[in-house]
Amino acid sequence: MDLFEYQGKQFFAQYGMPVSPGEAAFSVDEAVAAAERLGTPVMVKAQVHTGGRGKAGGVKFAGDIDAVRQHAGNILGLDIKGHIVQRVWIEKASDIAEEYYASFTLDRSAKKHLGMLSKEGGVEIETVAEENPDAIAKIWVDPVDGLTEAQCRDWIAAAALPEAAVEGSVDILMKLYTAYTEGDADMVEINPLILTPEGKVHVLDAKVTLDGNSVFRHEDYAQYDETQTRDEREEAAHARGLQYVGLDGSVGVIANGAGLAMSTVDVVNQVGGSPANFLDIGGGANADVMAGALEVINNDPAVKSIFINIFGGITRGEEVANGILEAMKRVAIDSPIVIRLDGTNAEEGRAILKPNLSDQLMMEDTMLDAARKAVELAS
Ligand code: GDP
Ligand code: MG
Repeated sequence: MDLFEYQGKQFFAQYGMPVSPGEAAFSVDEAVAAAERLGTPVMVKAQVHTGGRGKAGGVKFAGDIDAVRQHAGNILGLDIKGHIVQRVWIEKASDIAEEYYASFTLDRSAKKHLGMLSKEGGVEIETVAEENPDAIAKIWVDPVDGLTEAQCRDWIAAAALPEAAVEGSVDILMKLYTAYTEGDADMVEINPLILTPEGKVHVLDAKVTLDGNSVFRHEDYAQYDETQTRDEREEAAHARGLQYVGLDGSVGVIANGAGLAMSTVDVVNQVGGSPANFLDIGGGANADVMAGALEVINNDPAVKSIFINIFGGITRGEEVANGILEAMKRVAIDSPIVIRLDGTNAEEGRAILKPNLSDQLMMEDTMLDAARKAVELAS
C-alpha cells in the first residue's frame, strides 16, 4: 500500500519524527482556508502516488494567500506521470540549508534490511546512484538484532553528514527504523531530509509503502487502503478479492496460484503474445470465484482471448470444470476461452468440459499449446 506524502508524514509523526504542520485540501477554497489557519508562507504540494512532483510543477512555495490560490488552482487537476492531482497538502514552509536522503527497504538477497543515506538529497536517488555512487552510505541491518545507536552513528559518519546534522539525524534515523519495522513497511524514504539554517534536522518529504498483509495488526491501515489508486480493472478485481495486476496486452489470463499465474504470463510472452493481466484466483476455483474472474477480464476492452490455466491441487479437476461451466452461464463472455486443466482429477475435469467445447470454449492438453492457441486467437 502506497501512502500519500501527507499520510506518510502522519505515519512518521506517530513514531515521534519531526514533520511540518499542514492540512490536506481538495479544492482551492480548502487550500486557502488551510493556509490562513497555518499562516503563510506555505508549500502547496500535489498528493499523488508518484515521485518527482517538484520537477512536474506539483510543489510550489506560496509567500501569501494570493499565491496559495494561484498554485492550488494550477496543481489541482494537474497530470503528474498519469496521476491526476485530486488533493494538495498545504504545509508550513521550511528554510533549507542542506538536503539529504535517507531510506530503509528490504534487501531480499542479503536477508537484511538495507538503509541508504546520502548528503546528496533532494534529487532522485537513482541519479545519485548513477552519477556519484560513493555518495550513498549503505547499512545492512540484521532484523533479529535491530539497529543500534552505535551502528547508526557509524552510518552517518560514512555518509559524511556535517557535525551540525549528526544528533538530529541519529534521532530521526533510529525512529525511521522503528517506524519501518514496527509499522510493517516495505519501504520508507525521506527525500529530502533537511538541515535548517537554525541547525535542526527535519523531515520534508515522505514516501512510505506499507505491507498490505500486515493490516490485521494495524486497524488504522484501513484508511490507506481506501486511498489507493488502482485502474478501473484493478478496482473491480480488488472488490472481488482477486489478486490482479493490469497489463497492457490482449490475452486475458486466469490461473490458480501466484507462481502458476506468473508462469502463464511468461509463457504467453514466450509464444509471442502479450498478456492483458496477471490474475491469481487462489486455491479454490469454484463458480463464484471463476465468474468474478471472468467478469473482470471480460470488462477489459483490450482482451481478445482468455487463457484459463488451472492446476488442480486440493481443488479437484471436476470442481474446476463445473465451476468454469457454471461461471460461463452467469457471465456473457465476448472473447474465446482456451483452457488447460491439469493436476488432481484432471481426466474427470476434462471429461466434463469435452461435450461443451465450441469456438467459444477450447481446451488444450499442455500449457504451451494452450498459450499458442490463446495468442493465435488474440491476434
Ligand atoms: P518530490 O519532488 O515529489 O520529491 O517532492 P518534495 O516534497 O521532495 O519537494 C521537492 C523539492 O521542493 C524539495 O527537494 C525541496 O527542495 C523543495 N521544498 C519542499 N518543501 C519545501 C519547503 O518547505 N521549503 C523550501 N524552501 N523548499 C521546499
Ligand atoms: Mg522528494
